[in-house]
Amino acid sequence: MQSDAIKHFVIIGGGTAGWLAAATLANIFKQTEVQITLIESDTIGIVGVGEATIPPLLDSIRALGIDEAEFIKATQATFKWGIKFEDWYQTGQSYFHPFGSLGKRIDGHEFYQCWLKSRAEGDPTPLMAHSPEAVLAEHNRFFLPFKAINTPLASARYALHLDSTLVGQYLRQFSENLGVTRIEGLVEKVIKTAGGDIASVRLQSGQVVNGDFFIDCSGFRGLLIEESLQSGYDDWSGYLPCNRAVTVQTDNVGEPSPYTVATAKDAGWTWRIPLQHRTGNGYVFCDKYCSDDQAINTLLGSIEGEPLNTPRVIPFVTGMRKHPWKNNCLALGLAQGFLEPLESTAIHLVSKTLALFVRLFPDRHCNELLRNEFNRRVQADYEEIRDFLILHYCTTQRNDTDFWQYCRNMTIPDSLQQKLDLFKVAGGLIPADEALFQPTSWYAVYTGMGIIPDSYNPTVDALHYPTLKRSLDSGRQAIFNIVQQQPHHQAFIDQYCRAMKPG
Ligand code: FAD
Repeated sequence: MQSDAIKHFVIIGGGTAGWLAAATLANIFKQTEVQITLIESDTIGIVGVGEATIPPLLDSIRALGIDEAEFIKATQATFKWGIKFEDWYQTGQSYFHPFGSLGKRIDGHEFYQCWLKSRAEGDPTPLMAHSPEAVLAEHNRFFLPFKAINTPLASARYALHLDSTLVGQYLRQFSENLGVTRIEGLVEKVIKTAGGDIASVRLQSGQVVNGDFFIDCSGFRGLLIEESLQSGYDDWSGYLPCNRAVTVQTDNVGEPSPYTVATAKDAGWTWRIPLQHRTGNGYVFCDKYCSDDQAINTLLGSIEGEPLNTPRVIPFVTGMRKHPWKNNCLALGLAQGFLEPLESTAIHLVSKTLALFVRLFPDRHCNELLRNEFNRRVQADYEEIRDFLILHYCTTQRNDTDFWQYCRNMTIPDSLQQKLDLFKVAGGLIPADEALFQPTSWYAVYTGMGIIPDSYNPTVDALHYPTLKRSLDSGRQAIFNIVQQQPHHQAFIDQYCRAMKPG
């Protein structure tokens, strides 16, 4: 080990972010002397939401060597092909945002351009008839894509709905087995060196914990990154006005859907996330247009099963820390920033920023160039997701409430306006290589929100149209046929990963 290497990591916080950080570092340093200590307070507890995920999270779980079926059983998880958006464009209309890719290139031409051309020729086939995930979701089916080699379903991607408390417990066990030390206690004071780095933290019990590098996973407050290091916060609530959520858990009613449902309401939107043992529900809203009591009533009026707990209100400010990594402190999870959960991106951002940190791993001096590059890239990730979320709101045709009128008329970032303008010309869309949301995602939301380009790419006219149409039709039919042969979501869970009944 090099002499300046970090020898002791101290993580503050035992929510999903804290335990994911502990598990990742413990897995990397399992054959070494590097110490990892996690401090969490049972009195404060965790935020206890964060139950819908996106596919990269499963990659992170697999990278830890965790068996997927075992993880699913332990976290009461169900499968997710994407998100169904109801009433966003107009009341009564819905669309699906699937993971994975959409259709196939035809003679080298982009699928979406071929679909646009066919549409211009009068073909009424919906875009989502070409998405394996959307068709699987519509028919409530599930299977493992790697078992469908040589079929149109092989490229399908899925994620999980999971119980966030059970995820924390699972990752805690995993980390402790690899040698992570857990301390239960309340951090009362953060002690800094003369140079401004964090030297140690003192607990209410009087115990002092020293470390070389600190990871702040203390939740919204940002105990180290903000309260001690004063990173500063970029507030984006002008673009994404929702600033509170009310949540409640309910009994399951019927079989779980293999997708999240996000339904637009008068002052925001509600989620429904089915797990094996219960359903998670929430209403994300803006307090300028809706009181807590009104939000609770809206949520209780939209749930299907019996409530299992009292509704809980969680305030938040959309945005991110100006310096997610400052001095010898990295902020993760809610301590790093928060973009509302419409596209289930928060836990993914924890694992993505952890992976970036590993790529730019520092020694005890925390080279400024590494830090700056890290902060620049994290900011780009947040801005990309922010713009994608705004797209769901600013393109609405709804004007039935003050909230939706605000969303229709609000100023949007130039970065999003440029994307929208380019797309409207001829479906132009070139996301960055490492962008989270690839073309399928943008096509799904644009189309669902009624934005169709004025024309298609003229190179598609080089294709013989009847051949193009036959190719589109046969691709769509192949997806439809194979989907019918797959098991229902519940049947698949029963056979592959049924969890024990809690209790
Ligand atoms: P927390 O869970 O709040 O944990 C903070 C930890 O810090 C706790 O262990 C606490 O005890 C500890 N702590 C704080 N202060 C001290 C102290 N002084 N001393 C010792 N310990 C301390 N994400 C998704 O990916 N998908 C979703 O569907 C989703 N939905 C969400 C819905 C809502 C309404 C909200 C608010 C968030 C949602 N998220 C979602 C985000 C997700 O919940 C979080 O990213 C995730 O739970 C990680 O939280 P965390 O670990 O950063 O913070």
